Amino acid sequence: MNKNQSVDGPTRVAVIGAGVAGLTCGGALARAGFDVELFDKDERPGGRLATHRVDSLRFDYGAPFLAADSTLGQSWHLVDKSGSVKPVRVGMPDMNSVARELARDVAVRCGCQVTGMTRLQGRWHLGEMSGQIIGPFDWVALTMPAPQVKLLAPMLSARIASVRMNPCWTLMAAFGEKLPVEFDTISFNDPILARAVRETAKPGRVTRPEAWTIYATPDFSRAQFEQPAGRMAAALLQRFGEAMGFGLALPRARYMTAHRWRFARVATPLGEDYVLDPQQHLALAGDWCVGDGVDAARRSGAMLAVALARRGGRN
Ligand SMILES: Cc1cc2nc3c(=O)[nH]c(=O)nc-3n(C[C@H](O)[C@H](O)[C@H](O)COP(=O)(O)OP(=O)(O)OC[C@H]3O[C@@H](n4cnc5c(N)ncnc54)[C@H](O)[C@@H]3O)c2cc1C
Repeated sequence: MNKNQSVDGPTRVAVIGAGVAGLTCGGALARAGFDVELFDKDERPGGRLATHRVDSLRFDYGAPFLAADSTLGQSWHLVDKSGSVKPVRVGMPDMNSVARELARDVAVRCGCQVTGMTRLQGRWHLGEMSGQIIGPFDWVALTMPAPQVKLLAPMLSARIASVRMNPCWTLMAAFGEKLPVEFDTISFNDPILARAVRETAKPGRVTRPEAWTIYATPDFSRAQFEQPAGRMAAALLQRFGEAMGFGLALPRARYMTAHRWRFARVATPLGEDYVLDPQQHLALAGDWCVGDGVDAARRSGAMLAVALARRGGRN
């Protein structure tokens, strides 16, 4: 019997949220001998490491790439507007595959939205959208964006009240012909558009039709948050044509769709690796604990796993 077990068997941990933080935490706990189950409301693990698939096209409409020093994905050199070549890493054949890489060692129950949590005789029971009750668990780790944590664990709301997250409208557009520019990514100095990435330049992707993902600024996304997706797609495409200098000469989009991220990027992080409540056996992790981005999410999930493994057993 290792220290993560008791006479009743291994310590049972529920991780709610199978994004980078949840998968990193859950995988490490599973390898340390915990009995871990991950739950995610989406159909696939990955969270904001998201890929939209249309026939053979792939749009990485969450994080487009990872930092060059990440140990995930494969290396790629992207060319930016100034012509400089920047090393980054990307998932193959898409960014969501990075999540599949992280999900190797853990059981993930997808399509399972947790709507409530009850603690009975010192153990947690989760309520699912369909009305099913799942449990009992010795510990629950919540790894969704901070504002969503507050819905499930209002008792920890005050502790994470300082965290702020920004929304992001994202446009995915495919064109019949290659856009006549030499670069694969551009950061705009624009009130509406933040940046654009040529999806079809990434390694392992089909090269036709030409596909771009275009990200709106936080201010624009917030101001236009309630607009219908169709209207946003048209507005962002028009602005993209203008900002790229094509104007009306922008080739006709053969496909386009817009996605609205309510909690896309972290504006104000908590400034702690994770949150642990030893009395209630509740823990929190996510990018927003540490900073912004995939590496912050990974660090938070990994550090929480270390902290729980140190506690061991049912303490
Ligand atoms: C548009 C955009 C652009 C980005 N660009 C970059 C970039 O260039 N570089 C970079 O490093 N990062 C970027 N990021 C940020 C990066 O994607 C995130 O930092 C990282 O993926 C966060 O991982 P996470 O595990 O903390 O959270 P998430 O990925 O949000 O995972 C949380 C999971 O919890 C699930 N969930 C929520 N509530 C429930 C519930 N009640 N029941 C069950 N499941 C639930 C969600 O479905 C989700 O899968 C970008 C993100 C977006 C959206």
